[in-house]
Amino acid sequence: MIIQKSENPRISSFDPNNFSFGNTFIDHMVICEFEDGKWGEVKLVPYGPLPFSPAMMGVNYGQACFEGMKAYKDKDGEVFLFRPEKNFERINKSAARLAIPEITREMFIDGLKALVNLDRAWIPQGEGMSLYIRPLIFATEEALKAKISSKYMFAIVATPAKSYYTEPVSVKISDFYSRAASGGVGSAKAAGNYAASFYPTQLANEEGYEQIIWTDDATHEYFEESGTMNVFVRINDTIYTPPTSEKILDGITRDSFIQLAKKRGIELKVEPVSVKQVVEAHKDGSLKEVWGVGTAVVTSVFKALGYKGEKLQLPLLSLEESFALSLQKDLVDIQTNNAEDTFGWRVLVKNEILETV
Ligand SMILES: *Cc1c(COP(=O)(O)O)cnc(C)c1O
Repeated sequence: MIIQKSENPRISSFDPNNFSFGNTFIDHMVICEFEDGKWGEVKLVPYGPLPFSPAMMGVNYGQACFEGMKAYKDKDGEVFLFRPEKNFERINKSAARLAIPEITREMFIDGLKALVNLDRAWIPQGEGMSLYIRPLIFATEEALKAKISSKYMFAIVATPAKSYYTEPVSVKISDFYSRAASGGVGSAKAAGNYAASFYPTQLANEEGYEQIIWTDDATHEYFEESGTMNVFVRINDTIYTPPTSEKILDGITRDSFIQLAKKRGIELKVEPVSVKQVVEAHKDGSLKEVWGVGTAVVTSVFKALGYKGEKLQLPLLSLEESFALSLQKDLVDIQTNNAEDTFGWRVLVKNEILETV
């Protein structure tokens, strides 16, 4: 790995109590270029813009995918990643679906650890605080030809993140738009999936809903995901979540919630969840909770479901009553080293001095 440290670090002017999530970037980034059929050397360099042509294939044909993950700082200042191997596996699955060459462990895991270690001062400490990390790959060949690119860039950038506490939201059950289609790219973290979701989400926003519950493209009768999160439904004391598929992204938070629910002895069924079943459960009062899960906010609790012009109100439960909130707490306690990690999910980022090459 080539390490080039910033000569003008901005860390001294970073205020962990007052910053803007998503557009405050840490001092360094990882980059690695693919050319002539192979990935080059991994570089840890100062964060900054890169020169590209508007004819770059990644922006014209959307051959691009990414990951989203976090690093956490515990009370003693130790830094941890959460299940990074899962993100490494998944970025290569996404890459394969988009005909992007697979990346190496050195690029992803070693690059990640070196970056997080070098910029550990940027990780805010305290409840809900973390560093949001974005590994990504995009096609960089300069060519207006609809084909597989011969050049790519892999990069890792990161932005400090604040408390994940979010207000309960109203979501609209989609009866027209779809996020993913059979045989499509729904299970890949393809950049284009996000682009395609913005317009339907904007329409839902105009109707007073913060998010959409995506339903299947063929019938719109089954729940798939909610926004860019996996979805969970609680009817009486049983949790339901749809199985992952080519249309449902295999979320790491989802998998963690399933394992944590089992550990708590909560009944959980991974099976298709129909809109009808949810609407009927709401009618007879057995629908207790519906929520989304993902790395960014961990849990997004829903206070109302919009369906065919009706707004189905959901009860707002306390931490003691809510499965969503208690499982979120279990998860965050593991992520932030406030609880024993019986699953082996935390990965310590060793505090090492990196030699500049
Ligand atoms: C990233 C993402 C998720 C959540 O995955 P996590 O690994 O839990 O962060 C769920 N659905 C979609 C569509 C996503 O892009």
